Amino acid sequence: MTVRLAIVVPCYNEEEVLPETNRRLLALLTGLFESELVSADSCVHYVDDGSRDGTWALIESLAAADSRIHGIKLSRNRGHQNALLSGLLSVEGDAIVSIDADLQDDVSVVEAMVREFVGGAEVVYGVRDSRRTDTGFKRNTALMYYGLMRKLGVDLVHNHADFRLLGRRAVEALRQYGEVNLFLRGIVPLIGYRAASVTYDRAERFAGVSKYPLRKMLTFAIEGVTSFSIVPLRLITLLGFLVSGLSFAMILFILYGTLVMGAVIPGWASSVVPIYFLGGIQLLSIGILGEYVAKIYLETKQRPRYFIERTI
Ligand code: UDP
Ligand code: MG
Repeated sequence: MTVRLAIVVPCYNEEEVLPETNRRLLALLTGLFESELVSADSCVHYVDDGSRDGTWALIESLAAADSRIHGIKLSRNRGHQNALLSGLLSVEGDAIVSIDADLQDDVSVVEAMVREFVGGAEVVYGVRDSRRTDTGFKRNTALMYYGLMRKLGVDLVHNHADFRLLGRRAVEALRQYGEVNLFLRGIVPLIGYRAASVTYDRAERFAGVSKYPLRKMLTFAIEGVTSFSIVPLRLITLLGFLVSGLSFAMILFILYGTLVMGAVIPGWASSVVPIYFLGGIQLLSIGILGEYVAKIYLETKQRPRYFIERTI
């Protein structure tokens, strides 16, 4: 069986790496075609996520030089997840591999992915063997985050980012998730078709700098929690019960002091401390509630996730 393979590459200001990425992806396609794993009309689609540098012009020239190269230009920057989705939902093919433009993911394991797909897997995750090329900070925060998500009941594939193969059926399933705020890593395991994974060593970014500064990472992390878990809301309820219970015990204690012992010590500490404490808890709880309300607000508007300006 020869697979019609499409490779989707989201690009945001990636003119520095794109020529090398393109060279490797074309070599990969050629190799896969020669070993009769993929069909001749297999191709690469670069999604330009509103880049401000010469990325689109570069994609145009790459497409002009090789008929296997295509481009999708979004109307503006919509973020990695939306860029990826626009590619996944608009390209043809039996199987679609998504990969970052920066060559951190090992291009050569795509062959193993395709073999898994031929063997019957509908989703194939690319899983990093080690994270030694990431900074200690990124590694540790990622580890803590995966742990937290698991505790909150979200099924994430450990050490897997957005390097994966999706079969046609999985892509069609993905199309049915209407969420405006997307966290693909959390959604794909929910699809549930047969999955497999292949491991690889994650390399250093080939050129350019990370397009995920700390601010974007934090937003992305909160997005992941509030999109998939209502456990934080339950925790607030639990906390409410706990604090109410404590207050009740406190009332009993004070009543006992006044009625039986006939005296209470006049102190401001015992009255001021609970005020600060409760104030803090209330603000935190309102904040968490606010996160979910904001999510409802954003989701109910059902705004389109992206606009495709041009395809080549
Ligand atoms: N990216 C994108 N839109 C954005 C930010 C990033 O399409 O707003 C792309 C980027 O070009 C790259 C991929 O998403 O192909 C992953 O980004 P990056 O390598 O900067 O993230 P990191 O590996 O540092 O987490
Ligand atoms: Mg990267």
